[in-house]
Amino acid sequence: MNERARGLTPAAAERLLVDPGPYLSCDDCFEQVDARVEALLSGASEPLTPEFRGHLVGCAACLDEAWSLAELAAQDAGVDRASVRARFEQALEPDRRPLA
Ligand SMILES: [Zn+2]
Repeated sequence: MNERARGLTPAAAERLLVDPGPYLSCDDCFEQVDARVEALLSGASEPLTPEFRGHLVGCAACLDEAWSLAELAAQDAGVDRASVRARFEQALEPDRRPLA
């Protein structure tokens, strides 16, 4: 079996694992989380920017933080937890059809 037939080289496989999208640090994420959660609760059609969403998908700490904040803000706004959870999940995966 030659090199080509083996498919991806380790280096090529590695490149596939790196998110090529715009980079957001945890600090950037923290600065935006209030505004994003507000957009989420206000029912904005795209509450999360691609950068923000990409960071949350790859960073469990910021995802937890954002979700905790969304829960608290939902309580304050009188939005029930299940519906904010659904919006949050939908915002994280806009390509996935909502579970109705
Ligand atoms: Zn983070």
